[in-house]
Amino acid sequence: MLKQQQSQFIIVTFPAQGHINPAFQFAERLIRLGVHVTFFTTVGAHHRGMIKSPPTDNLSFATFSDGYDDEVVPMDDAEKQLNQLKRNGSKALTDLIVSTTNKQCIVYTMLLPWAADVAREHHVPFALLWIQPAMVFDIYYYYYNGFADIIGNDSDDRPSCSIQLPGLPLLATRDLPSFLLASNPYALVQPKFQAQLEALEKESNPRVLVNTFDELEPEALKALEKHNLVAVGPLVPYAILDGRDLSNGSKNYIKWLNSKSESSVIYVSFGSLLVLKKQQMEEIARGLLDFGRPFLWVIRAKENGEEEKLSCREELEQMGMIVPWCSQVEVLTHPSLGCFMTHCGWNSTLESLVLGVPMVAFPQWSDQGTNAKLIEDVWKTGVRVTVNKDGIVEGDEIKRCLELVVGDGERREAIKRNAKKWKELAMKSAKEVGSSYNNLKAFVDEIDEVNVVVKRV
Ligand code: UDP
Repeated sequence: MLKQQQSQFIIVTFPAQGHINPAFQFAERLIRLGVHVTFFTTVGAHHRGMIKSPPTDNLSFATFSDGYDDEVVPMDDAEKQLNQLKRNGSKALTDLIVSTTNKQCIVYTMLLPWAADVAREHHVPFALLWIQPAMVFDIYYYYYNGFADIIGNDSDDRPSCSIQLPGLPLLATRDLPSFLLASNPYALVQPKFQAQLEALEKESNPRVLVNTFDELEPEALKALEKHNLVAVGPLVPYAILDGRDLSNGSKNYIKWLNSKSESSVIYVSFGSLLVLKKQQMEEIARGLLDFGRPFLWVIRAKENGEEEKLSCREELEQMGMIVPWCSQVEVLTHPSLGCFMTHCGWNSTLESLVLGVPMVAFPQWSDQGTNAKLIEDVWKTGVRVTVNKDGIVEGDEIKRCLELVVGDGERREAIKRNAKKWKELAMKSAKEVGSSYNNLKAFVDEIDEVNVVVKRV
C-alpha cells in the first residue's frame, strides 16, 4: 500500500486535446502514487468534451474562462486567447493556491509560462510538463542559446541535411520544429516558447518533466548541461499499458474493423487541430484508392463546421470508412490495424509506438517534422512521405510509402520487428519499478522534501 503523499498537485493545462490527454495521464500516475490532484483548465475544454473522467477521491477539477466557453477558438483569435488565458488563468490560479493551507506543487503544460510566475510568487515549487519529445525541447533550447541563425535559416540557398547540434543526430531543415524557421507564418508562437524557457532560467534547479522514456531518447534527455530532463512517459492511457481490451463493440467503426482481417486496415488521422487543404485530401484519397486496402479515415469538420467534399467520396466509402472522430486508442489496439498514416502529433506517435503499430509519417507543422525524423531514422518504425515542390504529398508517393510499410518487402519485416521491440520497451518503462515510474516517484518525493524545507524556513 502506497503512503499518502504530502504535497497536493495542481496541473495547469492548455485547452487543446493534445495537451489535455498527456496531462490527464500524468494526473492518473500521480493519483496512483497516492497524490491528490486538482486538474486546472478552461471551462471550454470541459464543455467541448475534452475531459471524459469524473472527479474521484484524489482528483478534483477547477476551471477558469479564456473567453471561449462555448465556441471553438478561431485560428485568428489565437493571440487574444493566449492573452486571456494568461490574465484570467493567473488570477484563478492565485485564488486556488491561497484557498488551501496544504503544501502544493504546480505542474503546467506548454504555452503557459505565467503559471510558473504565479507559483514563484507564492513560493510553491513547480515543474514544466513538456508534452513533446526531449529532442524538441533541446532544439528550442539551442535556438535561444546561440544557435538561432543556424536553426532558423531555412532560405532556399541553404544546403539540406546540415545541422549538427550537440548530442543530437544530424538534422535536415524538415526535421526542425516549424515555429523556429524563418518561414514560419505563426509569429505569435515563438515568443511564448522563449518566455517558457526564460521562466525556467530564473530557477537554480529548473524542473522539466518530459513525456518520453529513458530508453527512447537516452541522448536527448542528457544533451543539455543546464537542464535535467526527467522522463515520465509514455503518458498514454493505463488501459493500453496494462494490455486491457478497450474495444467497445457498439461503435459503428469498431464493428466495421471487426469485419476486416488481421493487420489489413490503414488508419488515417491528422489529429485534433489540423485541417488539410482540399488538394492534399484529394491526393490522399487517390493514394488510398490506388493502394487498394481497407482504411479508416478521420476527416474532421472545417472551422465553419462543414466537411470537405471529396470528388471520389462514393468510391472511398466502398473501400473504406470515413468518420468525423473516433476513439483513437481503441482503433490502434484493434487486431485488424496494419498501419497508421499519421500527422506525427506526439500523442499519436507515442500511442502508435506503445501499441506496436507501424507508421507512415505525414508531418505538417510544429514538432511533427522532428517526430517524423525519430520514427523513420531513429526508431525505424515507419516511413516518411516526401512533399513535391508545392508542398503537397502526391497520391503516388502515399502509395509508395504504404507499400513499404504494409507491402511484402524486407523493409516491412524490419519495421515490424522494430515496432515490436519499442512496444515492449515502452510497456516496461511504465510498469512499477520501470524507469518512468521510478523517475516520477523520485520527483514526487523531492517535492515533499522541498515543501518540508519551505515550511521550516
Ligand atoms: N484523437 C482521438 N480521436 C481522433 C483524433 C485524435 O482520440 O479522431 C486523440 C489522439 O488519440 C491523441 C490526441 O487526440 O491523444 C491528438 O494529439 P496529438 O498530439 O497526436 O495531435 P494534435 O491533435 O495535438 O495535433
